[in-house]
Amino acid sequence: MHSLDGWKDLDYDAIKEELIEADAVGIFHPIYSSDAPPIVRDFLISLPRRIDMGSIGRKEAFVLTTMDVFSGTGCIQLQPLLESCNLDLRVARDFQVTSNLGIPILTYNPVETEKLRLRLDKSREELEKTCDVIISRGKRIWIQWSLLGRFMGWGQRVGPKFEGRTYRYLGVDPKRCIMCMECVDNCPTDAITKTDDTLEWTDACTDCFRCYNFCPTQAITVKGRSAKPGRHRQHTFFKEEFLD
Ligand code: SF4
Ligand code: SF4
Repeated sequence: MHSLDGWKDLDYDAIKEELIEADAVGIFHPIYSSDAPPIVRDFLISLPRRIDMGSIGRKEAFVLTTMDVFSGTGCIQLQPLLESCNLDLRVARDFQVTSNLGIPILTYNPVETEKLRLRLDKSREELEKTCDVIISRGKRIWIQWSLLGRFMGWGQRVGPKFEGRTYRYLGVDPKRCIMCMECVDNCPTDAITKTDDTLEWTDACTDCFRCYNFCPTQAITVKGRSAKPGRHRQHTFFKEEFLD
């Protein structure tokens, strides 16, 4: 398994050997406005330039994504890029895992922690079933999205082209930030850099909102808006149960 943060520095000779041996190639990513994060796309664009994928032979591929409640065809958006890598997308599934609906730009009532636990249990069961299908090399699974779902997914993908990607509107409230570096240390893609007196977000961001959830003072802003304690909830139980 390889992490795609730092994908430019991966050992592509070793990856080629692994690909030759592999039965299938899996990609896992958090949903990113009904799409894949830029670092995943960049990796797949670069792959055929670094490895002669035609010489490896056609392989099966699967894409598993995490989402909040909706991904609108997000998990099949990599299909053209996978095809350009000679990979046949057979299983594409999204799983409800976390919640980013408690962030300052949204007016939803934040999801209760107990509901998230139930959601996670259900997703675990679905993931096990999906893994069985992948391992047995059974039928092709693509979710049949409704017309409304496809339209909403399209809207989520087009919107950021005008508005800018998430990392451009994440920021920090200097009055609340205590420069503890919890956000920096817990970012899975090293997308946050510290400057002299503030923090900056880069395009390595995958929109996972782990930084937001881990900040002890709710100092991370979204589009310049600060979280209101009690209204905009953080979900730190993931930290307690899965990361320690
Ligand atoms: S986790 Fe919060 S308080 Fe700590 S450095 Fe990051 S933004 Fe500042
Ligand atoms: S932790 Fe924050 S900066 Fe890092 S990828 Fe997730 S949302 Fe982006």
